[in-house]
Amino acid sequence: MDLGIAGRVALVTGASRGIGRACALELAREGARICLVARDAERLADALAAIEAAGGEGLTISADLATPEGCREAVEGCVGEFGALHILVNNAGAAREHHVADVPAELFDDALTLKLYGYLRMSQLALPHMRGAGWGRIVNIAGAAGASPLPDNLPMSIANVGVLNLTRAFSDIAARDGVTANAICPGLTDTDRARELREERAAAAGTDVEELLTRMASRTPAGRMASPEEVARVTCFLASEAASFVHGTAVYMDGGARRATP
Ligand code: NAD
Repeated sequence: MDLGIAGRVALVTGASRGIGRACALELAREGARICLVARDAERLADALAAIEAAGGEGLTISADLATPEGCREAVEGCVGEFGALHILVNNAGAAREHHVADVPAELFDDALTLKLYGYLRMSQLALPHMRGAGWGRIVNIAGAAGASPLPDNLPMSIANVGVLNLTRAFSDIAARDGVTANAICPGLTDTDRARELREERAAAAGTDVEELLTRMASRTPAGRMASPEEVARVTCFLASEAASFVHGTAVYMDGGARRATP
């Protein structure tokens, strides 16, 4: 299937590693020009090198997306260099886990500031460029924890619920302008962050993090974690011309873990 995005300009947040890096690479393989945004310049350069080695084109912008200035720098840098912004993949998120019985409110502040307000600001800044082109795609990486919170991940799950609401709202205001907004809710995905988040819990349980992740993943129908590349392929589809009538929805890709029938 021709995804129809060759030559489009895509900005991917949190593109230096994990799901964001995989999304940037996959979009570049489809011929999109990529603006990779994160804080760490060295890791960004490494991700861009992988894109170029695969024959793609891109640029990197170091910016802190937890701040309004960082979001502005990212969008202005992308449009300044490529003259357009057609596809926005909001992905940068980094909430910490803590049991709900004594979770400090600051963890919610951190989660919402980066993930919810960051996604909001990036969407607000990108939308005029998409409308100007009469074509745009916003893909928000939310998370299955939004629908299925656990006692220790409430800051992230609440940020994810907010992202789903945000997605619906942007879909509503942009649908007649050739712009779609959709979300993806991955389940446990095999990234550095998935490991870092659970090191403490694994140590407390007297096991190592690989064993803990395997145990967690084995409780799902699919019995394994997602790979970042699997999330990237669904992102690429939602970002494509092929998904032109998909508006305001959320794709759960959690190996069947979510109990939601119908
Ligand atoms: P990761 O930590 O591997 O990557 C996160 C990226 O965001 C990195 O590039 C990091 O540098 C960047 N980032 C973090 N803070 C930033 C800031 N203030 N400004 C700019 N960039 C910043 O994480 P991941 O596991 O790839 O997760 C990516 C997204 O997917 C997150 O929104 C996460 O909630 C979501 N998600 C992950 C999983 C999972 O199991 N890994 C599951 C569901 C949803």
